[in-house]
Order: sequence, then structure tokens, then C-alpha cells
Amino acid sequence: MKLKRRLSLLPLILALCAALSACSSGAVSETAPASSAETSVQQETSSSGSDSSGSSKTPASSGTPSSKSGSAGKSSGISLKKLPAYSGSPYIAINKNRPSFSKKELSRRTSYQKFSPLDGLGRCGKTTACIGPDLLPHTKRGPIGSVRPSGWHTVKYPRLIRDRYLYNRCHLIAYELTGQNANEKNLITGTRYLNIEGMLPFENKVTDYIRTTGNHVLYRVTPIFKDRCLVASGVEMEARSLEDKGKGISFHVYCYNVQPGITIDYRDGSSRVSGSASDTGTSSQAAAPKKHSAAAKSSGSSDTRQTYVLNTNSRKFHRPDCSSIRRIKPANKKKVTAGRSDLIREGYEPCGICTP
Ligand SMILES: [Zn+2]
Repeated sequence: MKLKRRLSLLPLILALCAALSACSSGAVSETAPASSAETSVQQETSSSGSDSSGSSKTPASSGTPSSKSGSAGKSSGISLKKLPAYSGSPYIAINKNRPSFSKKELSRRTSYQKFSPLDGLGRCGKTTACIGPDLLPHTKRGPIGSVRPSGWHTVKYPRLIRDRYLYNRCHLIAYELTGQNANEKNLITGTRYLNIEGMLPFENKVTDYIRTTGNHVLYRVTPIFKDRCLVASGVEMEARSLEDKGKGISFHVYCYNVQPGITIDYRDGSSRVSGSASDTGTSSQAAAPKKHSAAAKSSGSSDTRQTYVLNTNSRKFHRPDCSSIRRIKPANKKKVTAGRSDLIREGYEPCGICTP
């Protein structure tokens, strides 16, 4: 596993460099100020979404990216130029791991969540929430497939990605935190790697903390777009627990929106296997004749057996480190070693939180 990761490092770095430089063609320069994220607070819609834990309405408009630049590039308090290129770690600490919330933001102890309006290119902006136990969802996660985030492609790499799909509709504020389903202001085109290796450990940590302490966590997630790119280069995550002044939760990280072995063109979300032009992914949208019989074949054999935890009552299966496992009744909990598709054939569904 480790060896594999190390081997894939070089093409990765090259891939990222290529992708980033490919996206510098836009004329708009980066406008992210070096100062803290406070500068962009007024961009939020304070009216919509605040103090409502229910699903926010999605306006029917703004489906097509217009040529207006909107708030492109202004959404972040950090500068991409100052961030090191991806080098094998799914995330890095920034600002000495200290979140940059304002005193005013830190003083409020009631739950709320705010989402930025989509910009002129249809891209998500900063999302902020003060999350207490009252916001944690108690209902099953709903469908989100109706949302098409900027730069979206449905594309599979069966040989390179265990879960096959390159992109997830990636929640900025995780479903497990505030129960947002198909909210277009909260879903970006994110790689499987960003979702699972980058963001999930932090999301689980915050959820577990709120659940066990009953305290509030101030939480902000900002997608960082380069110029006019439709796919974010990465996601900035900040959090601080309020009642204990950051003792329980305090972090400020940047998670890379990359996928080992795959080169992404961040301008439009198109992608290919790094270092090889011929071996492209299979897109379900391009109804091309099935030439990739090798890829199709390998998708069966790539379903390697691994450890999952089953809930035999709800018929869900989980990764062994899923935060929700502890809530399964012992009588319904079963640890198995199996292939993912075998479990699905047996009628099990992947958990919406750990998305195994
Ligand atoms: Zn799970």
C-alpha cells in the first residue's frame, strides 16, 4: 500500500503542476488577499439558509455558467500561490493550524449555517456554520444526484480508483454535520481522494466532538478556485470549538482536490490517466462505443476483499473507521471481509457518511 503510494508520487506532482499551469490561461488574476478570511465575510447571503436546519431551497436558475466573472477568486482568504504543491499528503496545516475566525464570529453560540450564492460561473463559495447538537441530522441522507456542480463529469477509472468514480458530489459542510442534502451551494466537484482522505477525518472528528460534548463548533469550508477554473484546486477547512475555546477542536487545513494517478484539467473537469494519453477514463455521458474492454474487465477483479462493518438491520455497510458504527446495536453489528460488489449483490447499501 505504502509502496504503491510512493510510486505514484512523481506522476502526481507532475500532474498537479501541469493541471495548475494549464489553468493559468484565464486573464483574471488571483485576488485572494493574504490577510485572514474575514475580509470576505460580506459575500455571504445572511438571509438564506441561516438558522434553518432543514434542506435549503435550490433556485431553478443559474444552471449555465455565464461569462461574467462574478466573485471568482475572491472567495478565499488564502492564496494558492503560497500553498505548496501536492506532495503525497491529502491535506496540510495552514496558518499554523489556527483558524482565522473573527472575535465577533466566535462570540455567537447559537447554531446557524450560511452558504454563499453561486458565482457567475456557477461555482460554490464559502460556507460557514455554527454547529451544535441541534443541527446534527437525525434523518437518512437523501439523494443529491440532481445537483450538477461546476466542472462536473461522471467518469470512472476502475483500475485506479477502488470506488471507480473519479468525482463525488462533495459536500462543503458534510451531511453528517448539518443534514444538507441537494443544496447546490454546498456541493462541489471533488475527487474521491479529497472526499475520503482529505475532508472526512476532520468531519468525523467534529461530529464526534459535538455528539459527545454537546458543545458548538464554529466551522468554515471554502473551496479555492484558480482563476476561472470550474473545478476547485482544493478546500480550506477551519474549525474551533466554542464553549472550551478551542481545546477540543481547533484546526485550519487545506485539502487537495487531486486523485493519485489521474491528471485533472481544472478549467473544465476533464481528466486522464497521468503519463498516458491512450488510457482514458470511461465517461458514462459520452455514449462512445465500448472500446475499453480491458478496463471493464478489471472493474470486476478490482473489487478486492476488505473489512467492512455491516448493520444487519438497516442493511448498510460501513468502513471500519466510520463514526456511525458505534451507534449500531451490537446484535446488528457484523464485521466481514468481503468485496464491495458482493455486499451490494447481497442487498447491502453503502453508508452515506463513510461512503465505503
Ligand atoms: Zn458509515
